[in-house]
Amino acid sequence: MPRALMLALAGALSIAIVSALPATPAAYRSGGRAGVAGVRTDSTAPYRTRLSSNLALVSVAGLPPVLGSLVQSAGSIVFQPVEGGEPVVFPLFKTVGGTRRTPAVRLLEAAGDDNDSLYLFHLGTAVVETASPGILGELVAEPARVDELGSAWTTGGRNLAPRRNVEASLAVIRELEASRYADSVFYILGAPSRAIGVVDGRGVRAGRLGEYLSRRDSIALSPSYMTSTAQLRHALAHELAHRWLREHPEGAAQLSAKMHPMRDSLRYGYSDRQEQLAEALAFAVHFLQVTARTESADASLLASYERLVPGTREAARLLITSPAYELHPLARGVTLAKASD
Ligand SMILES: [Zn+2]
Repeated sequence: MPRALMLALAGALSIAIVSALPATPAAYRSGGRAGVAGVRTDSTAPYRTRLSSNLALVSVAGLPPVLGSLVQSAGSIVFQPVEGGEPVVFPLFKTVGGTRRTPAVRLLEAAGDDNDSLYLFHLGTAVVETASPGILGELVAEPARVDELGSAWTTGGRNLAPRRNVEASLAVIRELEASRYADSVFYILGAPSRAIGVVDGRGVRAGRLGEYLSRRDSIALSPSYMTSTAQLRHALAHELAHRWLREHPEGAAQLSAKMHPMRDSLRYGYSDRQEQLAEALAFAVHFLQVTARTESADASLLASYERLVPGTREAARLLITSPAYELHPLARGVTLAKASD
């Protein structure tokens, strides 16, 4: 770690953001699939200011980032999105060889300047961006402190449908297709000519959560390997983005020309340009949905998306010109260039 970064981190550690909670929070609910409605109300506009409290932008398992609170609970940290929905629990350490603990957190980078720093951490499969590193920063600076923590716990992720139950998977998919969310992404990215299907055995064995089959112009998804509605929605946007790239070769070339490669090897699309293009479009759709009701989009929020998936900014520029976003504040107020440059 560079010395300057170490000093900045040490300074930030004096801000104690994470308070200890006993055992499992009572508010925790497992399963359930809240929030199937489409566009969400805005709560991210002043996000940079809010990140200085106990809030963070968290990208769970590769999904677009969402704002929420982080609260330590024994050897784990509980992330509760401000928009509601299921909390996500991340163990702060792994146990190796039965007894030895190693931190599950790693500092990826520090962004911003000395007075206004943001820190990006890998926490398991999540990326956490916060102005107040708290326990995450403490464990990076002093990994041995994992031995002082209580037990690490997590929640059993329940899949959206049982494995090898095509009927149950199709029921989840039909519900998705009938949702306002699907309406909006079909309107933005275009709709395939066939109903969405279930990923077949071969696709499942290849580890695919979704597929776009261009010959058939059809999409297949795999709800029995997904644990949240957010994941299901994002998979739909991602697969539709493959279709959009095929239907809009000029837009695809424009996006490709301006897209920087991904630096984070754990992120989907790393060293695979086609996948990164689709992911950037899917991230852009998420960003434009989140900011649909703001007077102007927050420049630093878009920068956060861009840090996670380079190309998101350019993808947002491309998509905002589509008729679907005619009423979007960024289309009306022409603040995207100002917000993102
Ligand atoms: Zn893909």
